[in-house]
Amino acid sequence: MKSTDLLKVARDFGAPVYVYDSEKIASQFNRLSNAFKGVENLRLNYAAKALSNITILRLMNSLGSGLDTVSIQEVKLGLLAGFKPEAIIYTPNGVSLEEIEEAAALGVQINIDNLSILEQFGSKHPDIPVCIRINPHVMAGGNSNISVGHIDSKFGISIHQIPHLLRIVELTKMNINGIHMHTGSDILDIDVFLYASEILFETARNFKDLEFIDFGSGFKVPYKEGDIQTNVEELGKKLTTRFNEFCDEYGKQLTLAFEPGKFLVSEAGYFLAKVNVVKQTTSTVFASVDSGFNHLIRPMLYGASHEIVNISNPKGRERYYSVVGYICETDTFGSNRRINEITEGDILCFKNAGAYCFTMASNYNSRYRPAEVLWHQNKAYLIREREDFDDILNNQIDVKELFSTRKERVSAK
Ligand SMILES: *Cc1c(COP(=O)(O)O)cnc(C)c1O
Repeated sequence: MKSTDLLKVARDFGAPVYVYDSEKIASQFNRLSNAFKGVENLRLNYAAKALSNITILRLMNSLGSGLDTVSIQEVKLGLLAGFKPEAIIYTPNGVSLEEIEEAAALGVQINIDNLSILEQFGSKHPDIPVCIRINPHVMAGGNSNISVGHIDSKFGISIHQIPHLLRIVELTKMNINGIHMHTGSDILDIDVFLYASEILFETARNFKDLEFIDFGSGFKVPYKEGDIQTNVEELGKKLTTRFNEFCDEYGKQLTLAFEPGKFLVSEAGYFLAKVNVVKQTTSTVFASVDSGFNHLIRPMLYGASHEIVNISNPKGRERYYSVVGYICETDTFGSNRRINEITEGDILCFKNAGAYCFTMASNYNSRYRPAEVLWHQNKAYLIREREDFDDILNNQIDVKELFSTRKERVSAK
């Protein structure tokens, strides 16, 4: 998307606003599909939690994607967006048996990540095929908050528990039709990924009726120039070879599944916010935008670095700025960033705002969540309205009779 298009969206729909470029989403989807074209049955299940607007889900469906869901609500959104139940996999962590049964009743693929629920589910519903989420205990590097394969992780069934798992399967006579891992969002190293894959193959040999092996996600996308990104073409080549060898050995063409979130939508997203105040202090120049971590929490939550550009003054002289939000506690989007000279009223663009940005937005400080716009074939479509004051009061119950409204203020004598 051109910055002139982004400026036009900000003008027409107001800021703050999220903008998503459908063409970039499609090109990422096709890039990953092409990297694995040597696999006979490939399934890409978009991880809905990255960006769950229903129109985005429809776009994914039109591209031929399946859907990876982590809550019953995401399952229902996916069904509403036109996904067939068979195209949805439900991969929750620590949810109740009741919620898993509700998902199973809707006909989606169940993926279970602990032995307690596996035993209960298998005892009650031995006829419903289940995928198992394995924890291969591979540290995939990066930020420890988002590496989920290591020994202390709450995710998945440890590979050391396979004997117990097999006993449960044997006693309940349940059917395991898939093996899954998701080792976190920071896999830098293809060899680490391939190593974890070998553990999955090893596990898969224990089951006779598999239909698919799901390698999760963790594809890394660049956030700024020079960032390391996953070379999906190289991974595609190497994993395809190993996967096809394994299928030959297993005696059946299995489906190779992935569930990318960030890879598909991160770079397609732009967050636009207006500069309210430029404030010179003794140590820096702050640019305060009409937004905060209530709209984009990743920098404050886990130190994510989103590139920030001034699309209102792209040719201006570059200066150092600290870009901050309006939330009344530390709320920094970026420190010491070189940005084209900022004037109050300018529109700043935060890049890589497609994944885990709007979906993590809140009403903190009683602020409205922003609008979302889809840019499709050179046209802007509003896909979520900006909230208003009614949304802030929605679901609150004003129990007026509990307290009398005082007319005068209490004052110290
Ligand atoms: C969040 C999640 C994903 C997507 O991860 P990305 O890093 O966004 O690609 C995939 N699978 C599961 C089970 C997830 O919870």
